[in-house]
Amino acid sequence: MNSLYSDEDVAFRNELRAFFQSSVPPGLRRKVQLEQNVSPEEMREWHRILDAKGWAAPAWDANWGGTGWGPMQIHLYREQMQLAHAPLPLAMNINLVGPLIIAFGSDDQKTSFLPRIRNLDYWFAQGFSEPGAGSDLAALRTSAVRDGDFYVVNGQKAWTTLAQYANWMFALVRTESGGRKQDGITYLLIDMASPGITVRPVITIDRDHHVNEVFLDNVRVPVAHRVGEENRAWNYAKFLLSNERLFGARTALTNLKIARIKEVAAGVMQDGKPLTEQPWLKQRLTLLEIELRALEITFLRILFEVQQRKPGEFDTKSSMLKMKGSELFQRADEIMLEVAGPAALPCIEGFLQGKPTDQLPVPEWAATASQKYFLNRAATIYAGSTEVQHNILAKAALGL
Ligand SMILES: Cc1cc2nc3c(=O)[nH]c(=O)nc-3n(C[C@H](O)[C@H](O)[C@H](O)COP(=O)(O)OP(=O)(O)OC[C@H]3O[C@@H](n4cnc5c(N)ncnc54)[C@H](O)[C@@H]3O)c2cc1C
Repeated sequence: MNSLYSDEDVAFRNELRAFFQSSVPPGLRRKVQLEQNVSPEEMREWHRILDAKGWAAPAWDANWGGTGWGPMQIHLYREQMQLAHAPLPLAMNINLVGPLIIAFGSDDQKTSFLPRIRNLDYWFAQGFSEPGAGSDLAALRTSAVRDGDFYVVNGQKAWTTLAQYANWMFALVRTESGGRKQDGITYLLIDMASPGITVRPVITIDRDHHVNEVFLDNVRVPVAHRVGEENRAWNYAKFLLSNERLFGARTALTNLKIARIKEVAAGVMQDGKPLTEQPWLKQRLTLLEIELRALEITFLRILFEVQQRKPGEFDTKSSMLKMKGSELFQRADEIMLEVAGPAALPCIEGFLQGKPTDQLPVPEWAATASQKYFLNRAATIYAGSTEVQHNILAKAALGL
């Protein structure tokens, strides 16, 4: 594994490690280590620390706060940040809307939005999915009708992650219907304080508030907040989603989960021996670790290929990373639940009765394990479901 890294990569990794080990606020580090929710204030503070170092948005164009690092350096940055128990910068801001404004936005949009996106003054939510438009995103119906210098937007967005904290939303809206459904879609930046916006919480099966419904009722959006050309946003969305999937392997996070399983299992006894000495657990963890190593090597191989390509070119292989990465991520949660064993049962019953996790009659780690198990069932759905990734890969393999 180590031979895949050059001497420069190793030196760079050491530099990253030293910075993250000294700069992550201890309270934040502990929360991330215990897989607890991070508050918006903590997230802002972390973004500002990164931004002051020039590392909030390393993959961006160097003229707009990026670093000029290549994919291998970005990978090491993400890996070392996660291993230091720091949250990755907000994906909606840094991976999704920022690169899109850089690629397709006006100079005014770049000047006014990009610094605020980097330091999280602007917290963006992603308004793509709708009831009836998820995997088949082009079926979206939220409409935007031109009225002078404004669009008047009406419709509903679904599953909008952390919209309760967001002061902006980037949204796909329909500006033309009648032709091919991929045509007629436009990309807008919407101020969440605009009259006519209602954010309604959706409590997921883990009994927490991560996602929302967003209703738009005659919301007036300045034309100046349209990114790129009217009716051309389908191509922009594809550009965004390819960005999202390349780093979907999540190997560092799954490695951290494995370390946490071992830590916790060492303190749980079965037949007079800690669980870490039980053959069933050793076997489950070894199989997971072997598959994870294979995924890491595959990821690095794809990363080397990506480095040879022009910026923005997309390869279907990132679908493989997202698919396998989310499955292994879920497998780690399943093993943690097995380690919790009978302690998982009161958690599941407690969730169904709506009890907060700190009121459950089990150790905190077991409650968290059950909660994460439920939350992360969604990992094989969001950012493109496993079935849809299978379709993409099958088409590529068959040359369709
Ligand atoms: C926790 C969470 C957070 C999310 N956050 C956001 C967000 O912030 N912003 C946002 O815009 N969206 C978000 N989403 C929405 C997410 O992108 C969609 O849920 C996803 O694209 C699937 O769409 P859907 O829910 O409409 O399911 P559907 O598309 O209706 O799919 C239902 C099932 O059918 C399968 N299926 C669908 N089409 C095919 C096909 N052609 N072939 C085979 N099987 C198929 C799917 O794999 C799935 O199992 C989030 C979702 C979740 C669960």
